[in-house]
Amino acid sequence: MPILYKANLLCNFNCLYCYQHTIRPEDQIIDHDAVEKTIRRLWEEGGGKGEDGKLKLNEDGIYCGPKVILHGGEPTTLPRDIFEKNLKLAYELTGVSGIQTNGYLIDNEFIELFKKYKTSVCISIDGSWPLNEFRGVGTSKERKKQTLKILRNMDLLQEAGINVSVIAVIHKANATGDRKEMMMEWIKSLDRRKISGRLNICVSGNPKLDLTVKEATEFYTEMFDYMMLNAIRGWSPYRDIIASLRREREVVCIFRECDPYCTKAAVSVMCDGSTGVCLKIHHDGKRYIRHSKYSSIRSKILLETDCKDCKWWEHCYGGCSGTAIDFDWRNKDRFCPVYKTLFVKLSKIGFIFNIDKQTKGRSGRAQQRSSPPKEGDYQDHYDEFEHLDGDHRYLDSDQKWLRTKGK
Ligand code: SF4
Ligand code: SF4
Repeated sequence: MPILYKANLLCNFNCLYCYQHTIRPEDQIIDHDAVEKTIRRLWEEGGGKGEDGKLKLNEDGIYCGPKVILHGGEPTTLPRDIFEKNLKLAYELTGVSGIQTNGYLIDNEFIELFKKYKTSVCISIDGSWPLNEFRGVGTSKERKKQTLKILRNMDLLQEAGINVSVIAVIHKANATGDRKEMMMEWIKSLDRRKISGRLNICVSGNPKLDLTVKEATEFYTEMFDYMMLNAIRGWSPYRDIIASLRREREVVCIFRECDPYCTKAAVSVMCDGSTGVCLKIHHDGKRYIRHSKYSSIRSKILLETDCKDCKWWEHCYGGCSGTAIDFDWRNKDRFCPVYKTLFVKLSKIGFIFNIDKQTKGRSGRAQQRSSPPKEGDYQDHYDEFEHLDGDHRYLDSDQKWLRTKGK
């Protein structure tokens, strides 16, 4: 389970759809010692240490314990010495480090730190201008300048040989009308530079920002067709849907079981050193205290209600708790029809992706399951993080991490 450093919830941006608005403090005091102690404890409890007391490596000599990722808020707004201390801690514990950032403040000094601590950098950006207009702070002119600077910083990172990935949130400003084509071209330009990432759907609850289900279905299916035509690979949610249909382990958390009180995909470390759940859950403005025991309660409810008899259950698990209908985790994800369309579409051309015929019908695990899941079921999906977008999710850089040798 990835450890997300969420001690700093402050941010230099004011993105219109940010799911942290409801919990962002005016000011905050970070107890750095308590935070570090918690990160070390979680790393050890999560099996980061091998029997020899060093990093836990798999048979290929690759670190296979929990990763530590600097999230936020915006991690680059921390004082530089504290920022380096955190990155160094992640590196010492895992041999690599990672950051989710809006990318605006990145400069040569940050780049040197990223090189030193083998940092994978995931940038939250929703496209070139004006596709990115919901992100940033200030007037439209100021947001445009910020977007151009972030794009330049992405160039600098790549020139420095740093792993870069992207989380783009999909909304009215980059997935409707003429903008749709612009977005496709931007994704293609990233692909040609070997950058991939996630296309996370916007779930602010504001109809001026969020796509309707119809708009989202059109965007995601057209984008998939465009990617197929242009040989663009590696983008989520498609790669996760394919992986789920192929019953592989590396599947983003929105297509795995999620306990909103004990999110397996992420444990957040807060400013006082306490642990929290995935912050996407906080969209409803409520505080969620992390429970120590994992429960399958959401799955049990959905199997009796919204998702009863759905043939895609064992590839979807009701979607994300944080984007459930009415922000109530007992409901299925409000974009269920989008997922269903994609599961149907991708399974029909499954032979291209080596998807077993069984996944197309009711003959898979969904049919085998006649009773609700037990506690601890569904362990077969990859327990990595979600790059909780630019919101979350993350990290496509984790694929690169898997190839990164530990110390
Ligand atoms: S596709 Fe819809 S109904 Fe089926 S499991 Fe997913 S959220 Fe539930
Ligand atoms: S992003 Fe959604 S599915 Fe993933 S851990 Fe957070 S709430 Fe759960």
